[in-house]
Amino acid sequence: MAAVCSNKMIGVFWHEGMLNHETGKGVFDSGIDPGFLDVLEKHPENSDRIKNMVSILLKGPISPCISWQAGRPAQVTELLSFHAPEYIDELIEADKQGGKMICAGTFLNPGSWDAALLAAGTTLSAMKHILDGHGKLAYALVRPPGHHAQPKQADGYCFLNNAGLAVQLALDSGCKKVTVIDIDVHYGNGTAEGFYRTDKVLTVSLHMNHGSWGPSHPQNGSVGELGEGEGYGYNLNIPLPNGTGDKGYGYAMKELVVPAIHKFEPDMIVLVVGQDSSAFDPNGRQCLTMDGYREIGRIVHSLANKHSGGQILIVQEGGYHITYSAYCLHAILEGVLDLPQPLLCDPIAYYPEDEAFAVELVEATRKYHKETVPFLKGT
Ligand SMILES: [Zn+2]
Repeated sequence: MAAVCSNKMIGVFWHEGMLNHETGKGVFDSGIDPGFLDVLEKHPENSDRIKNMVSILLKGPISPCISWQAGRPAQVTELLSFHAPEYIDELIEADKQGGKMICAGTFLNPGSWDAALLAAGTTLSAMKHILDGHGKLAYALVRPPGHHAQPKQADGYCFLNNAGLAVQLALDSGCKKVTVIDIDVHYGNGTAEGFYRTDKVLTVSLHMNHGSWGPSHPQNGSVGELGEGEGYGYNLNIPLPNGTGDKGYGYAMKELVVPAIHKFEPDMIVLVVGQDSSAFDPNGRQCLTMDGYREIGRIVHSLANKHSGGQILIVQEGGYHITYSAYCLHAILEGVLDLPQPLLCDPIAYYPEDEAFAVELVEATRKYHKETVPFLKGT
């Protein structure tokens, strides 16, 4: 192994069958051809984005730190630990009928169900790899994404909640407390919903303030959605303004995420990553660059060292810029591996940053948490 990794490795779980989920073309993610455009673009959640993520890990400077592991399809029975049986039956039936649009922008086409099963099974294998002690760091390189999929509802390009299934596997395997840190630009509403009524899982989501987007996504991602019953206080939403940038994200991590996780003391950490919070994503406006992702990775690395024996499962979600998503993935993994020097330069980061508004909102959120969230009172 090359010295670049300083004896640190990450298991990357992947199966090429996930490329067979065809999402079509149209006006952005609508699937609609208006008839007056000569060039229809691919749906943003397409296989090209993932092909570049695979190739940058195979051929980029981080490649010596990667241990490739085979993904596998989930069994239908495994899905029932997070999803309702009638919902799974509905998806199986839709697949048998030749596919359909399940909700806006979310197309189950021929090949999609098999890809979804692979994404779920591959994520479960990555978690099991950690639970069985084969490695401390594992990354599930999967599509279709999962964090919007609720127990009974597909949403936002997602059918099965890959991260949620892995969290449940960790709990079922003896983990006492699991934290999910979701940095995709959208609210991880599906994962939050799945664990909304338990104090065993602390779900934390940093996202743009996009609100509800209809019947498939009724949650608004606001700070007031804190969980229910025993789970009250164990869903922390951190909506951030457009243009938050590297410094704003760093501030939110240090002021809100780190103290909450120190208090919660998880024995397993799941980092849910979407590079759609990058500066060039068609689906987001948060303006993170490679530096910002690298720093988030480092912060999560240090949280894991303190609480989970260094164990982190990373699960791929969104990220739709074909080039920059791969670069930002590279940076995240450099951070999670805590490599001393950046291995790859940022080819395109040039937006100016102004973190003032983000800092103001983070301060307001901290005050709200201190006053409202029982386990954070007085922190
Ligand atoms: Zn997203």
